[in-house]
Amino acid sequence: MKEFELINRYFTGRGISRRDVDLGIGDDCALVNVPENCQLAITTDTLVEGVHFFADIPPRALGHRVIAVNLSDLAAMGAEPAWLSIGLTLPNIDAQWLEAFTDGMHEIAEYYNVQIIGGDTTQGPLTITVCAKGIVPNGKALTRSGARNGDWIYVTGPLGDAGLAIEARKQGWSIAPVHLKNANERFFYPSPRVAAGQVLRGVATSAIDISDGLLADLSHILKQSGVGAVIHADKVPTSAALNSLDNDELRLQLALAYGDDYELLFTVSDDNKNMLEAKLNQYGVEPVCIGQIVNNDGRLELLNNNQPWPLPEVGFEHFS
Ligand code: ADP
Ligand code: MG
Repeated sequence: MKEFELINRYFTGRGISRRDVDLGIGDDCALVNVPENCQLAITTDTLVEGVHFFADIPPRALGHRVIAVNLSDLAAMGAEPAWLSIGLTLPNIDAQWLEAFTDGMHEIAEYYNVQIIGGDTTQGPLTITVCAKGIVPNGKALTRSGARNGDWIYVTGPLGDAGLAIEARKQGWSIAPVHLKNANERFFYPSPRVAAGQVLRGVATSAIDISDGLLADLSHILKQSGVGAVIHADKVPTSAALNSLDNDELRLQLALAYGDDYELLFTVSDDNKNMLEAKLNQYGVEPVCIGQIVNNDGRLELLNNNQPWPLPEVGFEHFS
């Protein structure tokens, strides 16, 4: 199979067709229409084999995950996802693998009503780069810089499951099969908080998606907003799977510092707190308040049951 045969077989004519796409796959560029009074939100994320995923990840999960992590960035800005471009570098053409991988992509793309409008296909070590584009009303995007003294800090769901899945595998932890299955599911098939992001728009004061770990991602908000925070580790929501670990320190390490869960972290003023909680509940999202923004020279204070708790090593950083 040649490059263009691959594109025809796995991409052209598959997935949804949006009315705002004038020209999709097949020309040198795609042509799309951005609605009036809206801004285009653009993001790119790359997954590299051996760095971001194991070689034996189910291909359907990989297809899902690479799109999910990009849609999560759009969600964190309050943007509505619209279009995707896919940069695909493959060591070889394995029809069975590609079938499952592109099924995973098209499934999630369809679910969120986004159209794959183009890409590039090359040979080399397995690497997938997605560029996601979304739409947000002028001036309404959520940024990292709007958190203010007194704002409450929330997360949209339980943290640490993806870390549990990865570490259980790496370290050979013995975990009850039902818990392992649930943790793997969250790592393989993360659900970007797309609806929540749009509910937060115009109400939350800042937002970020949790890709590198709660504390690492929170520190971006603190830095860019010029504020500090108090976080209550015991309030951070965790799943039954993570709670099955009997080591408290390890559990907190995974929940606070691991990442890969793709929940949203956001701040909201005291005035809007209850309204926003109720609105998110309507969308099936149960946000949990884990702390508060304070004016303390940009410091992050971590408490566990109201006692000072040492900051775990934060976040995943390349080239560190
Ligand atoms: P060019 O050489 O002009 O860049 P290509 O031959 O690379 O064009 O691609 C042909 C068409 O197929 C283009 O519209 C491109 O966007 C699309 N395409 C290529 N690879 C992919 C891919 N992995 N996923 C989706 N569309 C793709
Ligand atoms: Mg090309």
